[in-house]
Amino acid sequence: MNVKANISADVKVDYTAPYVMSIGGRLVGANQTFDVFNPATGEVIANAPEATREQVDEAIAAAKEAQPGWAALSWEERSAYLTAYADALDAHKEEIITLLTTEQGKPRHSMATVEVEYAIYWVREVAKRKLEEEVIEDTPEHIVKVAHTPLGVVGAITPWNFPILLGLWKVAPCLITGNTMVMKPSPYTPLGTLKFGEIAQKVLPAGVLNIVSGGNAQGAWITEHNDVNKISFTGSTATGKKVMAASSCNLKRVTLELGGNDPAILLPDTDYKPLIPALFDAAFGNSGQWCIAIKRLYVHDSIYENFMKDFVAYASEKTVGNGMDPNTDLGPIQNKMQYGKLLDMFADVKANGYKVALGGEIDEELAGNFVPITIVDNPPRDSRIVREEPFGPILPVVRWSDLDDVIADANNTDFGLAASVWGPDRSEAIDVAYRLEAGTVWVNEIHIHGIDIPFGGHKQSGMGVENGKEGLEEFTNTKAYMFRK
Ligand code: NAD
Repeated sequence: MNVKANISADVKVDYTAPYVMSIGGRLVGANQTFDVFNPATGEVIANAPEATREQVDEAIAAAKEAQPGWAALSWEERSAYLTAYADALDAHKEEIITLLTTEQGKPRHSMATVEVEYAIYWVREVAKRKLEEEVIEDTPEHIVKVAHTPLGVVGAITPWNFPILLGLWKVAPCLITGNTMVMKPSPYTPLGTLKFGEIAQKVLPAGVLNIVSGGNAQGAWITEHNDVNKISFTGSTATGKKVMAASSCNLKRVTLELGGNDPAILLPDTDYKPLIPALFDAAFGNSGQWCIAIKRLYVHDSIYENFMKDFVAYASEKTVGNGMDPNTDLGPIQNKMQYGKLLDMFADVKANGYKVALGGEIDEELAGNFVPITIVDNPPRDSRIVREEPFGPILPVVRWSDLDDVIADANNTDFGLAASVWGPDRSEAIDVAYRLEAGTVWVNEIHIHGIDIPFGGHKQSGMGVENGKEGLEEFTNTKAYMFRK
């Protein structure tokens, strides 16, 4: 296989329909298609192919066939391919950003641009990382080494909230470690992923990255296939459990990035005013459709009243609208299923008579899935809005006075994705951070990610990690080998 000959960043991709899948290096449609909507207008913007079971099998077979040749390349050669892929994506950045806003809803000028730029950066940087062999024993007689070998074919299944970033977070570490991939994006946001697959076919060897689209069944076909060696899944906890069960058929490795109900705790006398923009963005960015959004904000009694006044004033200046409008701060809810869940949550808040400090009424007459920024003032700790992941622009702010009690409440959940602690006394805040049960805890900052920072959930927020050396290792087998000198 003369793989090097394909390296090129000079890629022309047509950004109008038809949207096609990538199977074994070929761009293919399907006999059946499904509609993809613009959530800001309710209009159908494109039809995406509904892969048949035969096409999913074909994609897996193509990945299996390509894998030995891909793994036989040197790490540096695979790195060169990924760098060329990052260049090719970069050349199409503006179109991908527009496509992302059109199908996902997030504002083009802010969130969509950040997502796509960050995703391309990720591919470029992961291409520079390497898992080195480790020598763990070296005596005059004997040597013991630990190496990391590829798993084979990886199935990747992604959600609709950050389809480009979360997709490429999987592609880059999977490929650099010598695996090949079959990816299936969410049926709500398949277009950007189909396009980044199309770009990949011009850069990568055939079969290395395959993209199939469809609904949940297509995901299940991948998880239950015996030629798939690992599933890298991002989505809800309920689906994660099904993925894990199906993956047992051939003891697939699984990495599960699942839901969360992240607490943020403001300690006594926190100088909260300068923090308000960061707290707002962390709770309401992407219209709250974020696994690591602040979903419960615990504010100490000493600052509660003033905080609420200032936070609500700040939030009320923000605009919800079509993401193509540069004045929009928050876009619509991505799909009708999630919009329906929010209608239900808003109805629960109303029915229980919780105090609403901002928003509270969804206008169902609007064409798009728009939900107003809503702040619920000190609802009971056992209310649904505190205990469940709403995944929308509605935030409960809860008043607290006893530290042990608030930590216990923050931990009183099956989730354990991330958390944050804010306060004037850094060592006190760090102590609290240690006591919070979550895969990531930020102190006086939030949403810091990095190529070298492992990210994963505790408890039912997930299994395993993405990113960091540990994230790369999860795409490999650990292999000890030794010999007499
Ligand atoms: P979802 O679980 O409904 O769907 C995710 C993907 O799984 C989709 O592609 C879907 O088609 C597929 N799928 C559904 N059923 C399947 C099955 N039986 N077998 C295989 N695949 C199947 O999740 P969603 O609604 O798209 O995403 C929202 C959820 O994702 C939220 O709970 C959010 O917190 C979570 N999330 C987590 C992270 C993280 O990194 N921890 C990041 C983003 C989103």
